[in-house]
Parts: sequence; C-alpha cells; structure tokens
Amino acid sequence: METGLRNRVALISGASQGLGRATAAAFAAEGAHLTLCARNEQALSQLASELRERFGVQVHYQSCDARDRTAIETFVRNSHELYGRLDVCVTNAGGPPAKQFLETTQADWEDAFALNLRSAVDLARAVIPHMQRQHWGRIITISSITVKQPQPQLVLSNAIRAGVMGLVRTLANDFGKDGITVNNVGPGYTATARLLELAERRAAATGKTNQEIEQTWIGQIPVGRLGKPEEIAGTIVWLASEAASFITGQTILVDGGMYQGL
Ligand code: NAD
Repeated sequence: METGLRNRVALISGASQGLGRATAAAFAAEGAHLTLCARNEQALSQLASELRERFGVQVHYQSCDARDRTAIETFVRNSHELYGRLDVCVTNAGGPPAKQFLETTQADWEDAFALNLRSAVDLARAVIPHMQRQHWGRIITISSITVKQPQPQLVLSNAIRAGVMGLVRTLANDFGKDGITVNNVGPGYTATARLLELAERRAAATGKTNQEIEQTWIGQIPVGRLGKPEEIAGTIVWLASEAASFITGQTILVDGGMYQGL
C-alpha cells in the first residue's frame, strides 16, 4: 500500500520505548522524517541514530515531560522551525498507575489528567495552526481499550481517557474543513514495559504469578495472544496515510477482538 508519507514530518510524544518507539520506527520505514520527545534523552538519542541509519530519514528529538505545557510548546516550535512543516502528530505518554479507586490520591488524579488528557490538548493546540496553514494534518491519540471497556484496577485510565474521546470527536468536527483528520487508537493488552508493570501490580494484589495474570488476559483475547507494539504502530501509520483520508473522529481498537460490544 502506498501510504503517501514519504517526506512528511511526524511528531511522536512518549517515543523512547513501547508503542511510541514502535510508531516512530513505522513512520521512518515509510520515509517520514521524525520529531520525537520523551523524558529519557539517552534512549531518544539511541533511537534517533538507529532510525537515521536504517531508513535514511531525518530525526530530531528533545527531552520533554508531556505534563509540562511550556516544554510541549517549545518542542513543537523547535520542530516546526527545523522542518518548516508538521504533518502528523501522535499524542502518547505513559499510562497512569494501576490502582483501585480508594487507593487513588488527589495527586494521582491530577497527574493522570496532565499526562493522559492535558498533554493531548496541549499538543493539539500547538500543532493545529501549522496544519491549518498546510491544509493537511493528521492527529492520532493513543489511549486504551478502557475508552470502550473499563478495566479492573485502572480507574484513572477508565475515567480520564473518556475525555480524550470527547476531544478527538470535537477536533474532528472543528478542523475537518482544514484538511485535518483526528482519530484515536485504543490498544488492548500489548507486550510492552507498561504491561509488565500492570501484570506485577495485579500479581501482587491477587497472590498470582505474572505468568498466571498474563494467561488470564490472553484468555480474554479471541486471537489468543498479546498484541505486538508493531501492530498498534501499523494502525497508526494507516490512519495517517492517504488511504484513511475520509476517516475522522473515530476510535479504532487494536485489541485482538477483546472488546465485546457491538
Ligand atoms: P510504556 O510505559 O512502555 O511507554 C510509555 C512512553 O511514554 C515511554 O517512552 C515513556 O518515556 C513516555 N513517557 C512516560 N511518561 C512521560 C511523560 N511524563 N512525558 C513524556 N513522555 C513520557 O507504555 P506503552 O505500553 O508504550 O503505552 C503507551 C500508552 O498506551 C500508555 O498511555 C498506555 O497506558 C497505553 N496503553 C498501553 C497498553 C499496553 O498493553 N501496552 C494497553 C492499553 C493502553
């Protein structure tokens, strides 16, 4: 499939590991130039070298905490100054901690809001004017299956990410006329460091082993295995491609069939 992404510029936050890292590699494989942020500058530096060498694309990176609005604005401004355009924005960051409702603190709620909703707002606010001038843009949020099917011990994700869906639908309505599509990708259980942390929390809470927890999850997934980060990344690249230019305001779950709603 011709994606039309060669020489486009893709911005990806939370790109140092897991789904963000796989997404960066998938855009580079399509010939897109990259601008990446995360807190771990060393991991970004290694990734940038690897992707430049493998795919011959330009890669800018910057250490940035997605909860820091000023840092996001600076990152987006620097990226635009460097490339002169911004075509794709993938909003991603770490997930909130796995906790039961009564375990959560006020600080947990404020942090989850900043990390998983406000960061998407701030990135969108910073990139949209550039995309409007180009009359072309793709904003893709990475959220979770929790937007359709709340999960145990993930009350922070279950509650806060619903706001991301409201944001996505609204931006799709407001900016479709400017050639900008806005969609949300909701991963199911996917093998990354984040999932390992979740398995450890569940194991500690239930007295089971990590492997038993993983098997319980796999039992809920019709395709009978965990997802791979590349499978989430492939869907994001497709949403950014010309093939998906008439799709906006949607949530696409990449969950091996786990969500049971019609
Ligand atoms: P991960 O923890 O492996 O990677 C998260 C990335 O975000 C890392 O690059 C990390 O450095 C970065 N990050 C974390 N906090 C940040 C901050 N404050 N500022 C900037 N960058 C920050 O997680 P993952 O598995 O790749 O998941 C990515 C997103 O998808 C998370 O929001 C997660 O909750 C969600 N998700 C993951 C799964 C799964 O099974 N892996 C399932 C559903 C949803």
